[in-house]
Amino acid sequence: DIAVTDVSRTFQTSGGTVEALRNVSLTVPAGGFVSVVGPSGCGKSTLLRILAGLEQPTAGSVALGGRSPAERVRAHEVGMAFQDAALLPWRTVTRNVAFAREMAGLARDDALVARLLVLVGLSGFERARPAQLSGGMRQRVAIARALVTRPRLLLLDEPFGALDELLRENLNMELQRIWMAEEVTTVMVTHSVSEAVLLSDTVVVMGSRPGHVAAVVDVPFPRPRKPELLHADDFFH
Ligand code: ATP
Ligand code: MG
Repeated sequence: DIAVTDVSRTFQTSGGTVEALRNVSLTVPAGGFVSVVGPSGCGKSTLLRILAGLEQPTAGSVALGGRSPAERVRAHEVGMAFQDAALLPWRTVTRNVAFAREMAGLARDDALVARLLVLVGLSGFERARPAQLSGGMRQRVAIARALVTRPRLLLLDEPFGALDELLRENLNMELQRIWMAEEVTTVMVTHSVSEAVLLSDTVVVMGSRPGHVAAVVDVPFPRPRKPELLHADDFFH
């Protein structure tokens, strides 16, 4: 489980103190899917960066299955795709994805890399370099890279932000198959409330005041689990 307890985060800027998060508490059960929605600047990315161990809370605590984010990241149990895709510019698409497995000390798995690139709609671009791709394509490489280590926890910061609506919908449906069949806990930041409701068990609404959680809403239609008809094994085995 993810347990965020009374987390606050402030930043000192030339204009004074910015309160990015204020007393945020949140739990996500193992295998659960939580979406975080809210207006620009309300602290969504800061929350995700804290879960990823990239940022420390000013107050409060975060535990991922009883351990710290840093320990989880070190154990390569966390997959992330953030707003800026941050790909390695000199490597091909395939190598960018495969490199995440190398970094994690996992055995090479060309077949999995190839399947994930098909999943995110990038077949034909395996040998392209990031500079030759559109912003949405780079984001899709980042999604494939986040999944290639088969993480226990997936952190997605507006992963579909630069995608057109049709592609967004297709990718949503494809990724749902993975999320249904895999026990991967997911926290996703999105601007799209309909996407949040479609994909997640719980929607965290932030931002009536900056840094505050305004509401935590359980989606009334629970996501189906492990449906026999879906074969995520097509992608992971
Ligand atoms: P968006 O939807 O635009 O991505 P967000 O909800 O992700 O916004 P955050 O990036 O978490 O918002 O930022 C929350 C607040 O914290 C903003 O006021 C932002 O200016 C401030 N902030 C975030 N990171 C820093 C930083 N490194 N230094 C100073 N201020 C920061
Ligand atoms: Mg953000």
